[in-house]
Amino acid sequence: MNGARPVTAPRGPQRTAKSWGAEAAKRMLMNNLDPEVAEHPDDLVVYGGTGRAARSWEAFDAIVRTLDELEPDETLLVQSGKPVGVFRTHEWAPRVLIANSNLVGDWATWPEFRRLEALGLTMYGQMTAGSWIYIGTQGILQGTYETFAAVARSLGRDSLAGTLTLTAGCGGMGGAQPLAVTMNDGAVLIVDVDESRLARRVAKRYLDEYTTDLDDAVARVLAAKSEGRALSVGVVGNAAEVFPELLRRGIPIDIVTDQTSAHDPLAYLPTGIAFADWKREAARDPEGFTARARASMAAHVDAMVGFLDVGAAVFDYGNSIRAEAKLGGSERAFAFPGFVPAYIRPLFCEGKGPFRWAALSGDPEDIYKTDQAITELFPEDAALHRWLQRARERVEFEGLPARICWLGYKERHLAGLKFNEMVAAGELSAPIVIGRDHLDAGSVASPYRETEAMADGSDAIADWPLLNALLNTASGASWVSIHHGGGVGIGRSIHAGQVTVADGTELAAEKLARVLTNDPGTGVMRHVDAGYPRAREVARERGLQVPMLAT
Ligand code: NAD
Repeated sequence: MNGARPVTAPRGPQRTAKSWGAEAAKRMLMNNLDPEVAEHPDDLVVYGGTGRAARSWEAFDAIVRTLDELEPDETLLVQSGKPVGVFRTHEWAPRVLIANSNLVGDWATWPEFRRLEALGLTMYGQMTAGSWIYIGTQGILQGTYETFAAVARSLGRDSLAGTLTLTAGCGGMGGAQPLAVTMNDGAVLIVDVDESRLARRVAKRYLDEYTTDLDDAVARVLAAKSEGRALSVGVVGNAAEVFPELLRRGIPIDIVTDQTSAHDPLAYLPTGIAFADWKREAARDPEGFTARARASMAAHVDAMVGFLDVGAAVFDYGNSIRAEAKLGGSERAFAFPGFVPAYIRPLFCEGKGPFRWAALSGDPEDIYKTDQAITELFPEDAALHRWLQRARERVEFEGLPARICWLGYKERHLAGLKFNEMVAAGELSAPIVIGRDHLDAGSVASPYRETEAMADGSDAIADWPLLNALLNTASGASWVSIHHGGGVGIGRSIHAGQVTVADGTELAAEKLARVLTNDPGTGVMRHVDAGYPRAREVARERGLQVPMLAT
């Protein structure tokens, strides 16, 4: 793309912008495009297919220039990655308001979006790409960790120690599974047809070891399970053969899931086609290949249902394998649930979800000090402590040092205020930015993921993310964004983001107290409205006002 060059965010306590709100937005935009962070920085693509941080390099330059000149009572408007106006507002207002990829309902299709994108009128903002708060692979790792921690709790356990998980798909996102399980102290066997994927994950320390021999793999994980030892073992094989074989052998597996690329049948290798012939066969006869892939997925899912029948915890991990297997003839494909209704929704009822922060100093020590502060603020939360400790040991920072953990309603503001005090006291060497991603309780309408199977059938109602964005704007966030199509694609989701800066001032403390209470509060509100008893309890216990909730 014209104008491409390597970008790295400035570090340290000196700013060139006139407020920390504007400086932070500029640094986080630049950080999203840091070659350590972005997948294809030259094309301004941060992650997730074509999720961009800015529409063009000219737009990027104009955003940076405008943020440096922006007065502390002005607001910059960004329309799908292009700066389009500066308006006089006030100090409490966001410094930046962003709208990405939004289209009117009947026009919200990929072909129409691509047409408009080619005309230079829009860009795909994904979730944290166009809202300038992506922090690299730590995000997916933590979400996966949190899911497995929830699975452990659902089994009445503190951790996964002594359990064996079976899964498949060790790719870009699925490769976080083995580390997420071992961080929860469990043993896991992960199947992938592509040996290079397993080798890559071993090199990156996301997977402990792999083998091509199933008997050997099973022996290793069973030993780990019986000793209560954390261990991840990869095995080269086709899940549509390996899962039924393990079921037939009666291997004592406690948890079963899958993250092969089942959402795209051409990216799932059917049995009977050699790995080396995959690409050629898929290109030669896409329809025939699709039918074979779906038939294999049916065998794969039937084995998962078989594990369910013998007492395992089984769930779909957001890759549409149930729907594809059903098309392939699996009659009981929907016998097991998706991961959000099964494990994440109870957390959403407490407003619990992603809470991430980055150190504008660039100094890892600042993050370690905030890790310590979180540990002290929430002394009872064993899974949180385990995550923070293991993340420090295993997660390498990409770009500005950052951290993510999950906190709920009436928790996040405590962390934000603590960080702000630490900045004020000089314990941290520069301000901290605090935001979240959009796998979130109150800011997402996404019927295939975050709002799948809502209790009242409100899966596709998209008023909620809009209310979330308006409320964050009114509460003092530093930048607020409204997106369409993140995660699951154009036409399938509407979601909102917020980021707020802890610069150590009194004003920042007031803004943080409001934003970090109200933002997760909308998650509790949304689930109260949908009729979830746990959300009602949380609203009553923690003092959330919901006018039509009977007292
Ligand atoms: P990817 O394409 O990078 O990896 C998929 C892996 O599956 C590859 O390594 C491939 O070799 C392997 N595979 C394909 N067919 C197989 C078979 N028959 N047996 C064994 N292995 C097989 O994809 P990814 O980015 O890791 O994403 C995986 C899936 O997870 C996608 O469908 C994606 O949409 C979904 N996903 C869900 C969430 C979530 O929120 N739960 C998040 C991200 C991705």
